[in-house]
Amino acid sequence: MKCIICKGDNICKSRVKEELKIGEDIIYIPIEIPVCSSCGERYYDRRTIQYLENEEEKIKEKKVNLHEVGKVLEYA
Ligand SMILES: [Zn+2]
Repeated sequence: MKCIICKGDNICKSRVKEELKIGEDIIYIPIEIPVCSSCGERYYDRRTIQYLENEEEKIKEKKVNLHEVGKVLEYA
């Protein structure tokens, strides 16, 4: 499998944190997906997308425990 962005062939499964934006909040969801080690392009398969959609629903329904890891700040 070659990277569609940089044409490199260094795509490895990696653990990454997917950023999910809900309102003004950002929630990180750890997932393991193929990532191009040259340009950083991430590849999502159907299952991963479905998983992320499920997690988003659970977060919106407040069915998961979240803890704060940082703050989102805006330039005043
Ligand atoms: Zn690439």
